[in-house]
Amino acid sequence: MNIAVIGAGMAGLTAARILQSAGAEVTVFDKSKGTGGRLSSRSYAGGWIDHGAPYLSAGSSGFYDFLHDHLDAGILQDWQASLTGEPGEAEQVHFIGVPRNSAITRSLLGSLIFQPSTRIARLEAVEKGWLLYNDGDSLLGTWQQVVIAVPAPQVLPLIRQYQLWVALVKSVVMEPCWVAAIQTARDLPWLSDVNFFQHPVIHRVTRNSAKPGRQNDHVYLVQATRRWSEDHLEQPPESIASELQKNFNAMFPAVVDSEPLFAHRWRYALTDKALGQPFLWDESLQLGVCGDWCLGRSVEDAWQSGMQLAGHIVQAAK
Ligand SMILES: Cc1cc2nc3c(=O)[nH]c(=O)nc-3n(C[C@H](O)[C@H](O)[C@H](O)COP(=O)(O)OP(=O)(O)OC[C@H]3O[C@@H](n4cnc5c(N)ncnc54)[C@H](O)[C@@H]3O)c2cc1C
Repeated sequence: MNIAVIGAGMAGLTAARILQSAGAEVTVFDKSKGTGGRLSSRSYAGGWIDHGAPYLSAGSSGFYDFLHDHLDAGILQDWQASLTGEPGEAEQVHFIGVPRNSAITRSLLGSLIFQPSTRIARLEAVEKGWLLYNDGDSLLGTWQQVVIAVPAPQVLPLIRQYQLWVALVKSVVMEPCWVAAIQTARDLPWLSDVNFFQHPVIHRVTRNSAKPGRQNDHVYLVQATRRWSEDHLEQPPESIASELQKNFNAMFPAVVDSEPLFAHRWRYALTDKALGQPFLWDESLQLGVCGDWCLGRSVEDAWQSGMQLAGHIVQAAK
């Protein structure tokens, strides 16, 4: 059996590894240069800045065990971060990738066949399976099964002809999020490692430099609120970076020297309304869909969704 997985985030790679272990030949495609999706990190001045999910939290024992398995190999580390402003968060165990959060997806990639920088623009059903085309409309090959593991709105162009699924996927609501990396001249000891705010512009500030292996000193990842991100969605990153820096400085008057390093827009950052079922699978089409948005808005939801879809495919093939 050969299977194409579209999306090299946590959901896609979790599914891909399970399918590979069951004997399938799996090819993973991603439009980005590397793995991770919303768990990505940017290289900066010889170090790393995690500009997607700042850490992974384990709510269930299954996900905790999965993450724990990566501790010994040095891919993940548990992070005893100081937390302010969100009591529920403090109750969870937090992990971070070393030296960057996408270390976990790089590790999951293992020996899978990977085609980065390849956006899948359309799928065509044929007798033997599926033809995949890139955004230049070049044919990439034929696969017997396809797993789509991308944010809900990005699923739609790939399933256009399946009206039942289109309606289901359209019921999902995802929200955008602007983030900016800000460097200060010295440490801000009165900030916790992770800080949540009730503020119209800034939702969370994470001390990126508190994580091992990041190299850069005094770098803070500032995550804007949903409302502010929506209102500024189409603004250029440079102006967003300076607006978020201004708000950061205004919130913390003790900050004298700060510099915005970059801003990044996540158009489909977090799920507001989930699908309410772990995956979609059509046995007659041999087509499946997974992703965090099926169940919720966390890395753990992505893992659950990918794992459950792959488990279902393996069982159905027996
Ligand atoms: C700013 C921010 C903060 C967050 N904070 C947290 C947090 O504190 N805790 C937490 O648990 N979660 C957090 N999250 C959410 C978490 O990052 C996601 O839930 C999780 O990473 C989603 O994984 P996924 O595999 O479902 O999707 P993604 O990571 O989005 O992976 C999908 C992949 O598909 C690729 N793709 C899309 N379309 C195509 C196409 N047509 N062809 C080829 N490739 C395609 C994309 O490039 C991407 O790599 C945060 C997210 C953001 C953005």
